[in-house]
Amino acid sequence: MTAEMTTHRPAAAKALPLTDTGLAAPEQSGRLPLPNGVLLRRIEWPTASVILAYHLVALLAFIPWTFSWTGVIVAIIAARLSGLLGINICYHRLLTHRGFKCPKWFEHTLAVIAICCVQDTPARWVAVHRRHHQHADEQPDPHSPLVNFLWGHIGWLIIKNPELNRLGIYDRYAKDILRDPFYVAIERNWLQVKIILAQWAVFFGLGFLAELAMGGTTMQALQFGLSILLWGVFVRTVFVWHQTWAVNSVTHLWGYRNYQTDEDSRNNVFIGLLAHGEGWHNNHHADPRSARHGHKWWEFDTTWLTIRLFEKLGLATDVVGPSPHVMAKAGVNMVTRGGSNTPDE
Ligand SMILES: [Zn+2]
Ligand SMILES: [Zn+2]
Repeated sequence: MTAEMTTHRPAAAKALPLTDTGLAAPEQSGRLPLPNGVLLRRIEWPTASVILAYHLVALLAFIPWTFSWTGVIVAIIAARLSGLLGINICYHRLLTHRGFKCPKWFEHTLAVIAICCVQDTPARWVAVHRRHHQHADEQPDPHSPLVNFLWGHIGWLIIKNPELNRLGIYDRYAKDILRDPFYVAIERNWLQVKIILAQWAVFFGLGFLAELAMGGTTMQALQFGLSILLWGVFVRTVFVWHQTWAVNSVTHLWGYRNYQTDEDSRNNVFIGLLAHGEGWHNNHHADPRSARHGHKWWEFDTTWLTIRLFEKLGLATDVVGPSPHVMAKAGVNMVTRGGSNTPDE
């Protein structure tokens, strides 16, 4: 199904001089080169424009007229939920790695939440991430921070990479995803954009109506609706972006390793806690299929706990736990257990 582990890893990263574009000149540095065909001056304008626009619009949320504490709370709750349910559970552990199964209606609901995070379509996200696992920290890795931190965090998104040509990577990495007509439909007719715009309307509309219901004037309703939109959509999306991007960048540079994998993945405590368990990235590279990324009792993995809750509710089946062989080889002892692969105590 998915191309999994890599076969080679380069030397450890060192500081790299930046060019005038802010990105590295790896050929001169001896560090990991950019993927083949990448030219730093070829910008992926549609993506770059959306990322820039969201960051700029998010700043408006801090203007007193559009600031509200309700908006801040909505942003925090929406960020936690959309990152957890959409990106971690749906795009990553379910669609990319098939760490569990669930009813199609539930999977599609989670996928719509993921699309609202503006991290591209399910097929595209899955294909890019499977390519990352196949070539982690080698030249074809789409976002290795061994090129430099900025490339791994955001550069790879805004600079054209011919190797990520949509049809090419779909054919190689996302055929199983595109067997589902729902995901094919999302690739067409601007459906992804329509879903994203619909969530703008939902957040604004709920804020607008809530203020009217509490006796506010039309102007007050407009103000509160805009506040909920700016915080609940724009600030939240920017926050979840950086959370996901930090898994790509930070957890291939800084942290500890439970497993001697053949790339530079790390377990990073800060990202582990911030990104609901996605920061236990070395564990994940050692055992990609497992829906549980926290392997030690203190490696808190709320994404895994949520999947277990879904299992108890009958919404998740065939949940894959960490391989006992992988853990035994590295001498990792798990205190709690869960998932079909987890050894008995
Ligand atoms: Zn990785
Ligand atoms: Zn993964």
